[in-house]
Amino acid sequence: MEKLLKKLEELNVGKIKENEPLKNHTTWKIGGPARIFYEPDTAENLQTAMKEIIASGVPWLVVGKGSNLLVSDKGINGVVIKFGENFAHYEIEDDKLLRVTAGYSVIKLTTLISKQGYSGFEFAGGIPGTIGGAVFMNAGAHGSDISKILKRALILLPDGSFKWYTNEEMDYSYRTSRLQKEAGICVEAEFNIKKGDKEKITKEMQANKDYRRESQPFKHPTCGSVFRNPLPKYAGRLIEEAGLKGYSVGGAQISDIHANFIVNNGDATAKDVMGLIKHVQTTIYEKFGVKMETEVEQVGDN
Ligand code: FAD
Repeated sequence: MEKLLKKLEELNVGKIKENEPLKNHTTWKIGGPARIFYEPDTAENLQTAMKEIIASGVPWLVVGKGSNLLVSDKGINGVVIKFGENFAHYEIEDDKLLRVTAGYSVIKLTTLISKQGYSGFEFAGGIPGTIGGAVFMNAGAHGSDISKILKRALILLPDGSFKWYTNEEMDYSYRTSRLQKEAGICVEAEFNIKKGDKEKITKEMQANKDYRRESQPFKHPTCGSVFRNPLPKYAGRLIEEAGLKGYSVGGAQISDIHANFIVNNGDATAKDVMGLIKHVQTTIYEKFGVKMETEVEQVGDN
């Protein structure tokens, strides 16, 4: 670890911090420190750094806005690679192709392009996170998801090469992508968009955002939906029917507003959230015979 840290600093491949608290990089405001916290400045420098990281055998993890991550209280004894401002650019080609780097905020991007009258991203208005995280998660809402608009994604593979994966090669299904089965870092992505009626697009986006504000908790930190919907059933409905709304473990509580959300009441630890997740899984299985899988990803040392 120390050797890798020194090497990365010598290579001058971006910003490096030691023991960075990950609670500052997750929407739940939970998570212990990352031994090495690395913010790459360019794709080429990330490629150089990844060669060193992989050769060292030190574990690594990419984070966007940490809006789908439960980081353990002990943190991550490895390298956390954060896509930030250096990867926040976009361009539009021929009014039909949107090219965007992985660190761009989905909320910011959807707002900007809808104001310019581009259609395609209306469903994503209000989904927190970065483009890289959305491509990885196949983020979606309102009956649509990333798989409906992605043309291709530029992936840095563990062998150090860059490869464009087409939509088909991303192997998308509900909140799932190829990147969840095979390691790879999304650096950039291209989406199919089209020019439309600006007023209609912004109105639809606003309606989607309003729906979120009415149906989801936003006063306390959350991580969005904690469980995948065990389709055709809905996770939130099952949790509510089991009478678990408001149930809490330590500082973590099932939201009174939306039962598939767990709120951090101020001092929740990852251990509290994990305890609550386990309680929900056991209760739902006993009551309805349904296995509840998490959508939120649990990472870090235990
Ligand atoms: P992170 O949480 O940082 O990471 C998630 C996963 O993606 C990790 O495995 C990480 O390693 C990987 N990853 C991140 N960036 C990259 C990259 N560049 N290359 C490779 N892997 C990468 N999700 C929905 O789908 N629909 C919703 O409606 C929705 N609503 C939400 C509402 C709230 C209030 C919150 C807090 C969350 C919500 N989410 C929703 C969950 C979350 O916003 C999405 O899953 C989002 O796409 C995660 O993006 P991120 O950048 O925060 O990724």
